[in-house]
Amino acid sequence: ERKAALSASTGPGATSDGHKVPLLANVGGPADVSAAVEAGAEGVGLFRTEFLFLDDSKQAPSEEKQIEAYRQVLEAFPEGRVVVRVLDAGADKPLDFLTPADEPNPALGVRGLRTLLDHPDVLRTQLTALAKASDGLPVYLEVMAPMVADRTDAKAFADACREAGLRAKFGAMVEIPSAALRARSILQEVEFLSLGTNDLAQYTFAADRQVGAVSRLQDPWQPALLDLVALSAEAAKAEGKSCGVCGEAASDPLLACVLTGLGVTSLSMGAASIPYVRATLAKYTLAQCERAASAARAADTAEEARIAAQAVLSGE
Ligand code: PEP
Ligand code: MG
Repeated sequence: ERKAALSASTGPGATSDGHKVPLLANVGGPADVSAAVEAGAEGVGLFRTEFLFLDDSKQAPSEEKQIEAYRQVLEAFPEGRVVVRVLDAGADKPLDFLTPADEPNPALGVRGLRTLLDHPDVLRTQLTALAKASDGLPVYLEVMAPMVADRTDAKAFADACREAGLRAKFGAMVEIPSAALRARSILQEVEFLSLGTNDLAQYTFAADRQVGAVSRLQDPWQPALLDLVALSAEAAKAEGKSCGVCGEAASDPLLACVLTGLGVTSLSMGAASIPYVRATLAKYTLAQCERAASAARAADTAEEARIAAQAVLSGE
């Protein structure tokens, strides 16, 4: 049955009643693009550009090298969307020449956008490379910043994008609870939100994503995390803007339905998960997804939330 469902699964992501939810791929560079195209991704929802920076521990890749890598990814989706995340260095992704070595709590220190605002030359080179790589291509480029905490961060990023002459939509990742709580304020500066549920769970539950002993608190079905997703999606809707998910949560087919019911407008995941998410989403109406989302949010634990959503969707 699973096989049949999968072979029937092609085309754009949508609920059974036609509510569109673009299914996008998470990629780390040009090497991941063919799998994304084969899985029928409608674009890239998260291009983790930090992989380009891992080859050299002393300096950032040259503008030319970056242009080449960005162009290869952009050209793979000529009519699609490509969401590029600017460098997310620090904490679980340290870079010798950028990340302070002496921080007591690297996850709470200078990382993500904070690193780039401390090294404006690195951000400028990256944004200029993106502007040049996308020049003349019909692709719909979106550029987003990791670890945006508040409106001040969002404005600093949008200003840097404008200064680099980037013709793209600028967005903010929601990975810190403050960003979800004040999403409308952040949306005064940027045009879209993308929820990074891996870090959002880490910071909501004070549970290090690299520590297995606290993995229970990293479960994306945690109702408190679903509440923050709902807040962000509602804020985006009120501002007439989009709010996607690009964390691991989007790759769980049942949770993808719940996220859709919470108002999330696109889902980005590893390419291998796309057919499963597409097939599951196509089985339910938007109203069913909304009921499953309400049931999940009414639960007290991640496990109960999963069971409650499953019960709604299977008509129990
Ligand atoms: C996230 O935090 O959910 C995310 C998508 O970014 P990364 O996993 O690369 O930190
Ligand atoms: Mg993150």
